[in-house]
Amino acid sequence: MSPLFPSLHAAEPREAVRFGEHALTYAELAAAAAAPARRIKDAGRVAVWATPTPQTVVGVVAALVAGVPVVPLNPKTGERELAHIVRDSGPTVVLAGRGDQLPSLLGRLTRIDVAADVAAAAAADVAVDAEGSPTKAGPALPPEPDEESPALIVYTSGTTGPPKGAVLPRRAIAATLDALRDAWEWTADDVLVHGLPLFHVHGLILGILGPLRRGGSVRHLGRFSVEGVTRELSAGATMLFGVPTMYHRIAEVVDRDAALAKALTGARLLVSGSAALPAPDHRRIAHATGRAVIERYGMTETLMLCAERAGGGARPGTVGAPLPGVELRLAEEADGIGEVQVRGPNLFTGYLNRPDATAAAFTEDGWFRTGDLASLDEEGQVRIVGRKATDLIKSGGYKIGAGEIENALLDHPGVREAAVTGEPDDDLGERIVAWVVPRDPQSPPEEHELTEHVARELAPHKRPRVVHFLTELPRNDMGKIMKRALHV
Ligand code: ATP
Ligand code: MG
Repeated sequence: MSPLFPSLHAAEPREAVRFGEHALTYAELAAAAAAPARRIKDAGRVAVWATPTPQTVVGVVAALVAGVPVVPLNPKTGERELAHIVRDSGPTVVLAGRGDQLPSLLGRLTRIDVAADVAAAAAADVAVDAEGSPTKAGPALPPEPDEESPALIVYTSGTTGPPKGAVLPRRAIAATLDALRDAWEWTADDVLVHGLPLFHVHGLILGILGPLRRGGSVRHLGRFSVEGVTRELSAGATMLFGVPTMYHRIAEVVDRDAALAKALTGARLLVSGSAALPAPDHRRIAHATGRAVIERYGMTETLMLCAERAGGGARPGTVGAPLPGVELRLAEEADGIGEVQVRGPNLFTGYLNRPDATAAAFTEDGWFRTGDLASLDEEGQVRIVGRKATDLIKSGGYKIGAGEIENALLDHPGVREAAVTGEPDDDLGERIVAWVVPRDPQSPPEEHELTEHVARELAPHKRPRVVHFLTELPRNDMGKIMKRALHV
């Protein structure tokens, strides 16, 4: 079986990951991961304390080469949710960086400190290397585990309810990364700029395992900043992966930050995902840089489903065509909108400990129900309307997508952020409610100004009936709006 990470296997001397000053070549990463990999090889399941550091990369790679399923833990998760995830996933070992403070609820796990430099990793390995064999450069990695064996257990973002653990086999990871290679012409020459956390699919599988599978490299900003993006792209990085809140921050300054605009213009690919990229942000970036941000759409359970292609002329509001190998259909279509259902080698094997939820997530004929609503345009491009549960508002006999109203509100100069929900209404069934962060909190636009703006841009029946002004929208760590927290 071909290895998941050929360059790691070959212990190539080229740079693989860089966090600030701290860089590791493939050879160094393989060497650093070999020690913890040996120590955990008999563990049932391991957790990684997923700080944005090279230690996290070493820990995850160690588990992947050892063939031990790994659960990345969000260090900022509240005690309750963390307790739920740890109880649910049942790791026996936690891999962490040496200085990391772990919460007491992880105290029952065996802690293994991971070093991200080869000398320290080899020194730490001495006690457990029973054969006494030297662990210097290029230690032999164990044989590749079976393709169907669980590699990662990733918890969903918890946008619509408590997070569920998606069991992802090596096959799904390889399939999705290879489909993205084809769509984005992603090669070993690409250098990725990354500022996302390392415990979800976007930051970990696409942002770290993606470059590692290609034999390319990734520069992690530690913490996202517009300055960091400018610096790394100006220094020759070729791609940027971000969530819409990051592109929003870029869009806010790009027309008066010449260095940023130049850096973005020079990049090969700007990719947004995890939530819908508001059309006004797409347009502002395109206007200032001549570059269209590419959108891709996926889920923890399915990995990547659709993506706009490199050089394909990305358009606001579309997420591209299904990726190679992905079968996609729209179920129960009405007015051209249906639920996205999918099949393909990129899918998970099920939710951990949740056979009920797993069964409910698949149709009788074996398609996965994404819970997302979409339409297909004449060119076969997918347009995500929103989530079935929260983004389809049934008002006055119409079915109205929250997303287009949000985009219309964002087009108003007085609006910085907007979310739209439906609330029960005796007359209309549901009434459209807007939640708006004004650009100037001292003088927010008048409510009627916003409702008339939407009526004018879209249609009178799409205007919000109520507008609430907030200082910020409730968002999770991926910047996704938590609509379930929006109520009066
Ligand atoms: P939970 O399942 O726990 O409620 P979640 O669905 O947000 O949380 P993820 O698996 O991280 O957890 O996110 C997948 C969802 O994100 C998709 O179902 C879709 O609704 C949304 N999404 C991802 N990419 C895009 C995109 N490009 N445009 C619109 N929505 C997107
Ligand atoms: Mg979900």
